[in-house]
Amino acid sequence: MSAVATPLLPVYPPTSVTFVEGEGSWLVADDGSRYLDFVTGIAVVALGHRHPAPLAAAHAQLDRLWHASNLYGTHPAAELATRLSDRFGGAQAFFCNSGAEALEAALKYSRKATGKTGAVALEGSFHGRTTGALALTGQPAKRTAFEPLLDVTFARPNDLDSLAAAVGADTGLIVLEPVLGEGGVRPLTSEFVQAAAELAEQHGALLCLDEVQTGVGRTGTFFAFEQLGVRPQLATLAKGLANGLPIGCLLVAEEASGAFAPGDHGSTFGGNPVACAAACAVVDAVDDDLLSAVTTSSNKLSLGLEGLGELRGCGLLLGLELDRPVPVDDLLEHGLLVSKAGDNVLRLTPPLNVSSHEVETALAILQEVLTR
Ligand code: PLP
Repeated sequence: MSAVATPLLPVYPPTSVTFVEGEGSWLVADDGSRYLDFVTGIAVVALGHRHPAPLAAAHAQLDRLWHASNLYGTHPAAELATRLSDRFGGAQAFFCNSGAEALEAALKYSRKATGKTGAVALEGSFHGRTTGALALTGQPAKRTAFEPLLDVTFARPNDLDSLAAAVGADTGLIVLEPVLGEGGVRPLTSEFVQAAAELAEQHGALLCLDEVQTGVGRTGTFFAFEQLGVRPQLATLAKGLANGLPIGCLLVAEEASGAFAPGDHGSTFGGNPVACAAACAVVDAVDDDLLSAVTTSSNKLSLGLEGLGELRGCGLLLGLELDRPVPVDDLLEHGLLVSKAGDNVLRLTPPLNVSSHEVETALAILQEVLTR
């Protein structure tokens, strides 16, 4: 492994590995070593590296048209909006380039739609690093140095009283992650999310489910909210949507549409034809067969992780709480890439189409390293 010294702002810890190639669930470093990728660029490469469907779609679009701007129509953005509206059950889409931008769009949309500036989010949540998305992020370590931020009231996850106390007449937006991903892989109960939907309705606020990490099949349904008995007014997507090309999306349910008019919001690169073409191929690939494969692999992983720590999560967004810091480097030396969701929570986000054999390989490495 070779260390890279590059003139990048040091906002990430130094790394000892540089990747040059990816294939399916595997990454290859510049020294030829192969790693089983259970990070997938933090739940982004949903179908695995160089999956033929988004690869062919992106190639074909690269050969045709890269960019025209949102002053004009392009087929890939229109086709992606139609596909996402169908999956959602009737919605309008705004395309941007990242999860944080999708949350910024949700913040602005709720202000315009409700005329209210109050927002409620959860302690431990993560919604992004731009200042609006950071204001919604309930993690002091990430936000304190940048305060004052927009005023947001935080409730405790799965605590109905705390949520009811946080929402009031000035609340225009309630934002929840169905599973708090960065905040320790903590699923919300359907009771809690349903209570949030009721409170939003009572107070004339919009409920936004942030599905940046949980969406596009990651939890075993296209949207995680399908398992919660709730259909929100707003949903945000990003990460897995284009299998690694930058994209973000705000979906506005048809019944909540109408607040934005031309000039209210925009993005130069949003709706980029190449990213949208790849995303159409991803959405088509997330069919019933793939979703049931997610559940099968999730069950196999969960069974194999029994006894190694407290297991949480849903589908292929799993967190294993250990009684010590996650040995990320040790696992890397054994050829397995995992991420952390807090110091002690080992997070597994393999490709949705990870094979049974790859799950067994990962489990063998985890057993060896975690039981030493
Ligand atoms: N929302 C959630 C739930 C996330 O997990 C993340 C990133 O981890 C974001 C928003 C921010 O997305 P991005 O890093 O693409 O801005």
